[in-house]
Amino acid sequence: MRLAAPVVVLAMGGINGSHEEARRNWPSDRPLPKTMLNGAHPFADGRMHHWTADHLGAQITHAGEMWNYAAGIPHPFPHFPGHGLSLIPCKSALWLNHRGERIGPEPLVTGFDTHWLCQQVAAQDKPWTWQLLNRRIALKEFAISGAEHNPRIRDRQFLRFVKETLLGNHRLVDQMARQSPHFIVADTLAELAQKMNALTASLDIRPEVLQATANAFDALFAPGNRPEGDAQVRRILQAREWRPDSLRTCKPAPLQQPGAGPFIAIQTQLITRKSLGGLQTDLQSRVLDGRGQPVDGLYCVGEAAGFGGGGTSGKRSLEGTFLPGCILTAKAAARHITGR
Ligand SMILES: Cc1cc2nc3c(=O)[nH]c(=O)nc-3n(C[C@H](O)[C@H](O)[C@H](O)COP(=O)(O)OP(=O)(O)OC[C@H]3O[C@@H](n4cnc5c(N)ncnc54)[C@H](O)[C@@H]3O)c2cc1C
Repeated sequence: MRLAAPVVVLAMGGINGSHEEARRNWPSDRPLPKTMLNGAHPFADGRMHHWTADHLGAQITHAGEMWNYAAGIPHPFPHFPGHGLSLIPCKSALWLNHRGERIGPEPLVTGFDTHWLCQQVAAQDKPWTWQLLNRRIALKEFAISGAEHNPRIRDRQFLRFVKETLLGNHRLVDQMARQSPHFIVADTLAELAQKMNALTASLDIRPEVLQATANAFDALFAPGNRPEGDAQVRRILQAREWRPDSLRTCKPAPLQQPGAGPFIAIQTQLITRKSLGGLQTDLQSRVLDGRGQPVDGLYCVGEAAGFGGGGTSGKRSLEGTFLPGCILTAKAAARHITGR
């Protein structure tokens, strides 16, 4: 079928639904893990970007800049091969390498610099890391990005949302414990280590190392010690100063605090998500060719245009600022097309 129109607006999304595209464009000076999960949709495959570049002279720019996430788990019921869920990791969880040692010297804490977190995770020996926490932490802090696992927000169930925020999200924690083999629960650290090794079919986690990791953290809370000497605890205290974050960030406490269990270990991997690059456009969302001239009648909006111009966000972005970039670029195109 052939359709003709005086004006065409491209809105085909990003390129990060294709691992081939993500890998091919990965900046050569940044670590690239052997395996990753797919947190976008396979339709966001960049085919239309290339077609437009090859046939109409459009420019793909900043394709190596992506907004990926450091803590994905395989979707328990994948909608497509490699489908991952992007966790919003718990700030109070200890982020460990494949041996069960805390990654450092700067500890990994979510919510401060996702770009840096991704690079630290990608630079690990194995393409996975572990989150070590307990049920007390999970109930208050564990969350998964996306509408599928946030029915209270999606379905506007305000009272239930408030209840889960204040009393803990038992529903989600129990659901993941039931559905995901990567969400491991155990009463003791020794049992947890055994289950972690069973998942990776290895002996990577020595129980005494996992125990030592937890003991070292808990020792911060011993009488006479200052927990805020630890960078992660400092960040948690900082986050808790802001009311919305204090509602979903636990007061720092020992991991092995009586009554806070059972222990939980979550095996996480890097997960691709959003493209910060895309087709180069001008402020009217017109697609530009190699000479910087608008291609007649061709516009590009949303993630396909890297949320504006093909690189407006630079190397980093703020959470929740992607949809506004889609609306902004679409409005610019609509205004120019209609002349209003
Ligand atoms: C799980 C998840 C959670 C997110 N959460 C947030 C958030 O909380 N806040 C935020 O701001 N952003 C979030 N984002 C990012 C945001 O949703 C996207 O950047 C935004 O939806 C992009 O909109 P778009 O219209 O440009 O592209 P898309 O929504 O990707 O739409 C592109 C459409 O084009 C279709 N298409 C592609 N190629 C072709 C083709 N060749 N022929 C025909 N059709 C084609 C695709 O099937 C798709 O329907 C999230 C993204 C994901 C994946």
